[in-house]
Amino acid sequence: MNSDRHLNIVGGGLAGALLASLLAQRGYFIDVYERRADPRLRSLDAGRSINLALAARGLAALQAAGLVDRIRPLLIPMRGRMIHQSGEAEQLLPYGSRPHEVIWSVSRAALNAALIDAAAKHHAVRLHFESACTAVDADANTLRLRTASSAAGDSDSTAGEKLTPLYATVATDGGGSAVRQSLALNGLLTVREDLLDHDYKELSIAALNGQPALDPNALHIWPRGGFMLIALPNPDHSFTVTLFLAKHANPGFSTLREPAAVQRFFTHYFPDLESLIPDRVSQFLSNPQGMLGTIHCSRWQVGRLLLLGDAAHAIVPFHGQGANCAFEDCLALVQLLDSHGLPPNTELETVFAEFERQRRPNTEAIAQMALENYTEMRDTVRDDKFVRLKALSLKLEQRHPTRFIPRYSMVMFHAEIPYAEALRRGAIQATLLDDIDQRGHCSSDFALADRLIVERLPPLPPAASAP
Ligand code: FAD
Repeated sequence: MNSDRHLNIVGGGLAGALLASLLAQRGYFIDVYERRADPRLRSLDAGRSINLALAARGLAALQAAGLVDRIRPLLIPMRGRMIHQSGEAEQLLPYGSRPHEVIWSVSRAALNAALIDAAAKHHAVRLHFESACTAVDADANTLRLRTASSAAGDSDSTAGEKLTPLYATVATDGGGSAVRQSLALNGLLTVREDLLDHDYKELSIAALNGQPALDPNALHIWPRGGFMLIALPNPDHSFTVTLFLAKHANPGFSTLREPAAVQRFFTHYFPDLESLIPDRVSQFLSNPQGMLGTIHCSRWQVGRLLLLGDAAHAIVPFHGQGANCAFEDCLALVQLLDSHGLPPNTELETVFAEFERQRRPNTEAIAQMALENYTEMRDTVRDDKFVRLKALSLKLEQRHPTRFIPRYSMVMFHAEIPYAEALRRGAIQATLLDDIDQRGHCSSDFALADRLIVERLPPLPPAASAP
């Protein structure tokens, strides 16, 4: 095997599995080391983000790997946010102004299994399950692995432990990355973990007589000011419900340890869910409570080793972009490799460094927007002003499709607009909307809006067609 073209991928989750296919398609030889068992044989950890929302960036990367047709049967379209306010009729706030502007609910386990299956089809990809990386020795150029059973005949392995050459390695081992931790322990990088003071817990709404209990083509939100509950549809007509709530407040997870307190909490804040989740108390008390946070890592590239996806820059889930961003990372990396040519002409170290320079402003931008979206989802979405400006934004987009695109739409539907640019233009648009709103021009007189848009927002490059 040509060692110049040999890459290890640590972590066969969403990003690692997709990256393996993308690299194999380009003539690289890949060893994927995944801590868990083969997801095609077993279901992944229950209670940990069972489904997720896929949008244009993720789809663009899947498209580049030729995998959209394979993934499409797993996707359920969600055309807007269905807002459930206490004592009011539910209200759908569309995500976009065009029919194709929807986001897609997908089972994490099914998506991961499909991506692993696609990677396994390449002869150049070797998948090693139940092989956890425990440390990196950058000086000795080795990865230390803990395996379920070390391969027979490995001279460098002890029972359950194995050293393997580092070659070039991309670490996609997720938010708790062991590779990142090992590099940090050796003083090769520093990490700041900004943990949110809110945690999450998942529950499930079962199908009702074989039918979905809620509109299956929406992302449901029960905004309650300081906290919220959301529900995403699954193919079996169930919904995965996620409660995002403060750890130590009232209400907060710390106040919900006893069945009676949990019962009171649901009765008070989510009475409409009582019939939909009859066993809410037992689900609540038995399901795990997950942490949320943003990872800021001082560097992603150390020699021929690169952190990618959540391992480099995990974010909070409120924009539904962590996996989309990780997939976009994969595409950005292989596009850089394409522009440099295959090794030995390409020095992977140089490409990894360039990847970090190119991606960091964008991942910082989505980290910020994801945090901001929590306030919007749990709180602002209930305001009349929010609903008014959202409707105005969609109208302005119809009038100026190349200049004014709501920030949410830029992030979710426009893979060609980098996150950093969406953040920058979004700030200009927010000021502009406020100016128009304050002058009472929201309804039908667009002269002011038209003038401000042309003055402040240069046209964007044309969009690629949606996958
Ligand atoms: P992961 O998917 O976490 O994969 C990491 C892989 O590495 C796993 O397979 C793991 O088993 C393996 N691994 C871990 N340690 C080791 C080791 N030491 N050695 C070998 N293998 C190892 N994103 C969206 O785009 N849309 C959403 O709607 C969305 N919703 C979310 C909701 C919640 C509640 C949460 C917590 C996250 C959500 N995300 C969402 C974020 C998304 O899940 C992550 O951003 C995405 O999974 C990152 O992909 P990854 O491949 O980098 O990491």
